[in-house]
Amino acid sequence: MTKTTALRTSIDKASSRSRMLNGQSKPQHGATSVHPLLRLQQCIGNRAVARLIQAQLTDVVQQERGGIKGVQRKDDAPAKSSCGSTSLAGTVGPSDKRLNGSVASVDLDAKAFGNTSKLGADFRFGACKVDKNWRFYLDALVAPIASRVQPETFKINVPNASDSIVTKESYPDIVNDLRPTASGTFSISCGGNKFDDKVTTYSRRKKYWNYQFVVDHEASHRKHWMEMYRNELVNAESNIWAHSLPASEASDAVGAVAKANATLTKHMTDAYQNTCKTYAPKQESREYDDGAPQYQKLVDDIEARARKEKWK
Ligand SMILES: [Zn+2]
Repeated sequence: MTKTTALRTSIDKASSRSRMLNGQSKPQHGATSVHPLLRLQQCIGNRAVARLIQAQLTDVVQQERGGIKGVQRKDDAPAKSSCGSTSLAGTVGPSDKRLNGSVASVDLDAKAFGNTSKLGADFRFGACKVDKNWRFYLDALVAPIASRVQPETFKINVPNASDSIVTKESYPDIVNDLRPTASGTFSISCGGNKFDDKVTTYSRRKKYWNYQFVVDHEASHRKHWMEMYRNELVNAESNIWAHSLPASEASDAVGAVAKANATLTKHMTDAYQNTCKTYAPKQESREYDDGAPQYQKLVDDIEARARKEKWK
């Protein structure tokens, strides 16, 4: 059985951006916030950091595995490929690096509060000969996904109701900026398709914002995208395992992968496209609806303080 690394392919999609079409304000928004691990990398050696990132990713996968359909295979699906490899898709977690080691970049519009990329996975196929056929498997799989959030000073941060920024004079504007009742439609682009997503739980945040809430919002994007993409990648991997080519069609594994590449790659691009169709139509409303209670609680706390301090 030859285990060969062959063609390296990736579905390179631009990092996704959402744009508010007719809302009063623009969506999530900054400057480059450097990932702590990357910052660390500038201080200490690459090797230590690589281990650290690996440890962190493992942790993420374990945390996310709990309620996920994607890691469960159908009962009749094989646990191993014909080449003997176990599933990579079943345990793939978000990575802030590409397969080639480069940093997964995230665009951040000057008016956006934050953004989360949803790059297509980087992958590599392998092949082996079993009896009279070439069989295939995923030899490498990385799902690059990363977020950026504007610096805390992007707007005036209101971390909680008792903060000194909350005063008799400022609180009416703060409450108006944070109350999660604004509406607007986001134009979402994913895999070359556009979706309009109407959000009714938007906070305007013209002058004031809560920085941490945006960090949380982007983290939810990463989590939900990864859950849905993993489901589809597991399916794609099953199809790759099921593929075969007569042994006579190629003289070695590299040649076999080259010959099967278009078919195998289609499974991977389909996985991305299918994820877009599940994720993108409610990309923003899903997260704003989830985040609305934390905004509403902050508003309620501020109004309670205003009554207590007899500001109104
Ligand atoms: Zn968002």
